[in-house]
Amino acid sequence: MIVDADEVVGLAQRLVRVESCNPPGDEARVARVLVEVAGAAGLEVRADEVAPDRTNVTVRLAGAGEDARAFVYCGHLDTVTVGSAAWTRDPFGAEIADGMLWGRGAVDMKGGLAAMLSAMVAIKRSGRRLPGDVVLHALVGEEVDCAGARRLLASGGMTGAGWMVVGEPTGMRVVVAHKGCVRLRVVVRGTGAHASRPDLGVNAILNMARVLPELAAVDVSGPSHPLLSGATSTPTVISGGSALNVVPDACAVDFDIRTVPGQHAGEPAARFQAVLDEAARRDPAFRATVEVTYDRSPVSTPVDDPLAGAVQGAAEEVLGRRPEVGGAAYFTDASVLQPPTGVPTVIFGPGDVSLMHQTDERIGVGELADAARVYAALPFTVW
Ligand SMILES: [Zn+2]
Repeated sequence: MIVDADEVVGLAQRLVRVESCNPPGDEARVARVLVEVAGAAGLEVRADEVAPDRTNVTVRLAGAGEDARAFVYCGHLDTVTVGSAAWTRDPFGAEIADGMLWGRGAVDMKGGLAAMLSAMVAIKRSGRRLPGDVVLHALVGEEVDCAGARRLLASGGMTGAGWMVVGEPTGMRVVVAHKGCVRLRVVVRGTGAHASRPDLGVNAILNMARVLPELAAVDVSGPSHPLLSGATSTPTVISGGSALNVVPDACAVDFDIRTVPGQHAGEPAARFQAVLDEAARRDPAFRATVEVTYDRSPVSTPVDDPLAGAVQGAAEEVLGRRPEVGGAAYFTDASVLQPPTGVPTVIFGPGDVSLMHQTDERIGVGELADAARVYAALPFTVW
């Protein structure tokens, strides 16, 4: 299978140069690049408008029809914003220097998208047929609300998927499990009053301050997982009060909780509720609520699933070394797509995980080409 390294790097450069920061998440322009490249290569391509200026792209390489199952590649079209720190190089310049391609999304994950699509182009060109279809889903919105993945699932786009590889950066490690993410918002209610007469009000900030250490100490641990560290919880955003001369009647704190397989959002929420109930029992003026504002499931495929071995085998064939199997702390679109479908899923992609979402994000051009070669070999290893 011949993968053209210049073509992979050139496509990654084109994708980086088309801004698709989320927010706002206007991925339609970068989606058009994929549509054009896939169409020119003779691959079937379908665009699905999830919202105005937001388009999922599905690319399909038809198989021989001997197997109804499809081999699915998955990635996202959006990136995080560039942040406020100064970059050494233009974040949308896609310059190549020191053997690296620099820019927002180079690692997370326009590099992975370019490698996956280039692999499908290479298979198509080779004329070799696979028993079933190879499909690439390039989705909008992963960095904020997984809108593209939710749309794909709801529209039946995962029907027939037999295996899924998500091309998020793993440093070319084979990741079979990652944590989920639950966000809880605790709102403490008080009673407003003139700040000169605090005795007439109930200060929501003070009541939050009393209960916050207890909430932060809530044990969120779940079942232990061989590849993942324990669940974590930390408060990330606080807001309260409306004016310098008014006793605050509300104070809200958001918690970010990273869950492990076997845990559901209701568990930490119930433990938080118990703390709030106890605070209300101690002080009848204490009023608070907790709600789940975000819920992404953990993902886990057994270490001995054939897909993990297939990815290791394809990587070994290309790289000359067998990558280890591990877990990841971040979550991906697989949080939406894998648990309800049960499709064996591996996260495998180029790029240094520590450079995700960072200033001066960059990826090795050699690694991009290597990833494309692994992706091109992989479907033949699976079938
Ligand atoms: Zn990503």
